[in-house]
Amino acid sequence: MEGIVKLDGDIWQVDLQERGIPGWSSAYFMKSEDSSGWMLVETGASSSVERLLGAANYIGIPSAAVKYIGVTHVHVDHAGALGVLARHFQEAEIWVHHRGIKHLADPERLIEGARAAYGEQKMGQYGEIIPVPQENLCAAEEGVIIPLGGRPIEVWETPGHARHHVCFYDSKTKGLFSGDAAGVYLPGLSKLLHRFVTRPATPGPDFDGDLMLQDLYRISLSKAQILYFTHFGAAYPAQLLIELVIGQLLVHMQLARDYLGQEDASRNLCRALELQTKKGLLTSTPEERVCELPGYEQELLLEPLHNSADGLLSFLEKKGVFYE
Ligand SMILES: [Zn+2]
Repeated sequence: MEGIVKLDGDIWQVDLQERGIPGWSSAYFMKSEDSSGWMLVETGASSSVERLLGAANYIGIPSAAVKYIGVTHVHVDHAGALGVLARHFQEAEIWVHHRGIKHLADPERLIEGARAAYGEQKMGQYGEIIPVPQENLCAAEEGVIIPLGGRPIEVWETPGHARHHVCFYDSKTKGLFSGDAAGVYLPGLSKLLHRFVTRPATPGPDFDGDLMLQDLYRISLSKAQILYFTHFGAAYPAQLLIELVIGQLLVHMQLARDYLGQEDASRNLCRALELQTKKGLLTSTPEERVCELPGYEQELLLEPLHNSADGLLSFLEKKGVFYE
């Protein structure tokens, strides 16, 4: 089946083809050490449920064998399908940060927030968000270990992207399911340019720059060697990727400080972030051309910058940083 990759350590990566776009969002199926069951990390939006169920079938995972589902946070592109999936994987404990639990059980505010961030048309492409049965939900917080049949999965709280964000650390592969905490990784472009291409993910209204830096320092200094990005795919060494994202985040925050308080700050900062991001795509040819981006990677790299600009500005405003 296209878009399913078997990784080392009994992990399968599934391209969710979010909104019909390949290479945007991944989910991962991870097998327990004693073969008694599986954990699914990330669900994507409801419009990806058919793909996810097709993938489980292809890999040979019966519905009752999915014992755990973990979502890194409750944004629609990571957890939107949970309500629908809970009907298929009825045995599964659903692990989510404790701040996210009430929003999954009663998703009204989640839907409102997503509509405000993405607009009506994009929301339609994500599919419906329905409540998750309260009794299936488990509170993920720092120090919790999910006992995946001899394969302990640690929960790390990483509140910089959103206050309800966690990462899941797999001791078997020394890999971290990083959600949006470690930014976005573009495998196609990285391959094309023979270097890592990443960007930090800083959307409003929850983004906190100080906390995100702490999260990134922590991951860089941790035992994690591989990152399983939701956007998109597995990459290593984790420490190099993270240190690249730290540098980018520091520069983006400086740009936001430069524009804060100015007229049209959001639009101008977005433009500045776009130019800065494109500069990172210079090829090594004599003409130093910016490489031709494949369509969807261009979208993945540049389209969310509107959101990122707003997140950076609102963080600085909340923090009370004003420059004359
Ligand atoms: Zn995301």
